[in-house]
Amino acid sequence: MTLVDVGIPAVRGARPTAAGRPEVPELVDRFGRVARDLRISITEKCSLRCTYCMPAEGLPAIPAEELLTAEEIARVVGIAVHLLGIHEVRFTGGEPLLRRDLEQIISGCREKAPDVPLSMTTNAVGLQHRAPGLAEAGLSRVNISLDSVDRAEFAQLTRRDRLPSVLAGIRAAHGAGLTPVKINAVLMPQTLAGAADLLGWCLEHGHELRFIEEMPLDADHEWARTNMVTAAQLLEVLSARFTLTEVGRSDPAAPAEQWLVDGGPQRVGIIASVTRSFCGDCDRTRLTADGMIRSCLFSDREFDLRTPMRNGADDAELAQLWRAAMWNKWAGHGIDAADFAPPERSMGAIGG
Ligand code: SAM
Ligand code: SF4
Repeated sequence: MTLVDVGIPAVRGARPTAAGRPEVPELVDRFGRVARDLRISITEKCSLRCTYCMPAEGLPAIPAEELLTAEEIARVVGIAVHLLGIHEVRFTGGEPLLRRDLEQIISGCREKAPDVPLSMTTNAVGLQHRAPGLAEAGLSRVNISLDSVDRAEFAQLTRRDRLPSVLAGIRAAHGAGLTPVKINAVLMPQTLAGAADLLGWCLEHGHELRFIEEMPLDADHEWARTNMVTAAQLLEVLSARFTLTEVGRSDPAAPAEQWLVDGGPQRVGIIASVTRSFCGDCDRTRLTADGMIRSCLFSDREFDLRTPMRNGADDAELAQLWRAAMWNKWAGHGIDAADFAPPERSMGAIGG
């Protein structure tokens, strides 16, 4: 099949080329990887201002007419699952809870994909009021970002004093059955000393905790290889309080390496995206809130799905465009390369 010309503007990167691509339905790339996991950002807005992600003033607003609507998101999920072999869909942002039509988005996607896990990455601010409705709409589970259980430290890192709301959100997610609730914590120099407390808190409450190495995706461009906290530094800190036994990854595409804590069964995970990159096994494809396909967090080459969709392209044409976009995925993030430059869009604008 050849690509149908449906009016793709060249604003953000070149038109994808499918030259050399085998005629298979899945999202394969030149390096033999197959994308099965779709991350959809649904807003650039956020209730927090984490220093490793957002600028203090927030991101520039995406004009309302450029945001994918609930119906468009459901359509895209249907295409991804039925035509492209996507096995799992995660909603992210910005903060997904800031979409007032989130329940409608979830129920629309659930209707299109009744058997696929639909999860959400959230900061949980305000989740306590919406967890039951989201579960009812068809959300399967949540990943919640929590970097510190110390209120002052949390407020300093997120520039907002919202820890009590986050903790209430975590309890509500459990109560609504959005389980397993996984907690994500980005490793920062100022929270390293409290990492063992955070792990202790998660063990006590039965949450699975994953630490994430900070990536050069902060809007302020302050990330530096020399002052990021590495997985090795974290292991040293945690080992002073806990006995950790390495068990590896649950499957090759799972980014978190796992350790049993004090003999298990509870575990802690570390996503060492920088020092132990897993790009060779990456199975992600991303869609930004304004409808751009992004094959990698670090690639500024985006392919516009929204314009052709609004210009009347059918599902098969959109699927073929997506296949071509993913065929062009890079081998890896290249953070260690001498000429590495962080992408234009920060994490909150791409969707983590
Ligand atoms: N607002 C939601 C939240 O915080 O969970 C969803 C969006 S947020 C961008 C998604 C994930 O990206 C969060 O777990 C966050 O900690 C992570 N993240 C943000 N900036 C990051 C960075 N520079 N390096 C690594 N992870 C980052
Ligand atoms: Fe908002 Fe999530 Fe970025 Fe924090 S990490 S600023 S909660 S989008």
